[in-house]
Amino acid sequence: MGKPKVGFFDFASCEGCQIELTNYGDAAFLELLNHIDIVEFREAMSEKADQLDIAFIEGSFTREADRARLEEIRNRSGVVISYGACASTGGINALKNHQDDYTKCVYGEDANMPHLNSQKAMPISEAIKVDFQVLGCPMDRTEFVNIVSHLLHGKEPVVPNHPVCVECKRNETVCRFDDGDHCVGQVARAGCGAPCPADGIPCEACRGFVDDANEEALKKVLVDRGGLSMARAESKTRMFTANLRSDR
Ligand code: SF4
Ligand code: SF4
Ligand code: SF4
Repeated sequence: MGKPKVGFFDFASCEGCQIELTNYGDAAFLELLNHIDIVEFREAMSEKADQLDIAFIEGSFTREADRARLEEIRNRSGVVISYGACASTGGINALKNHQDDYTKCVYGEDANMPHLNSQKAMPISEAIKVDFQVLGCPMDRTEFVNIVSHLLHGKEPVVPNHPVCVECKRNETVCRFDDGDHCVGQVARAGCGAPCPADGIPCEACRGFVDDANEEALKKVLVDRGGLSMARAESKTRMFTANLRSDR
């Protein structure tokens, strides 16, 4: 059997996840390239393919007009993987779902131009079936390699469902709260290795929340221990999870 044919596609995004991939000089990723055949990748090549074994899709589903292109990719791909927060959860794009008149605010009198006409930012799973997700903003490169490697070996990839605090403790990182700061790592989905607190930066849950996250308790901790106003605590919990919330 030949190498699996792999394609990369982008929708509403900053393309940071693609850049993350093309900048990936790690030995594990270079080894992975020996086992896959990249046949479509706009950021790096102009060729196209008819059929794909794996399609990686970056970016949110924000325009009904994109549905047909998503379905076309789905129809010619064995496995579809959303990579990055924008594609997997709606990501930071979904902040606009909570704003009125955002196009006018950004584009002024040009806000009515047809190409700016978009709907709520949603994960691509709102339009097509997605088989697996690589989380993070940008996507986590190690998780990307792990998921592809699992698939190549016929195994189901496992995405952690425990909070970032666990990884922080394993790393013996000083908690941001003990440094007079705040953090949402108590309910953020682990898998990144907790690099942000290790660098003295609060976790913002770019990988989304664990299942059944207690957001009310999180807000209380951000106010009581982090010293944030309730309004700021509310926006902190929304940064990367705006599309996962009941009030979306
Ligand atoms: S997940 Fe983050 S880095 Fe990736 S495309 Fe979206 S905004 Fe950019
Ligand atoms: S810094 Fe954040 S992720 Fe780390 S232990 Fe404290 S609350 Fe949890
Ligand atoms: S520590 Fe939090 S914000 Fe940083 S990469 Fe991990 S999940 Fe994302």
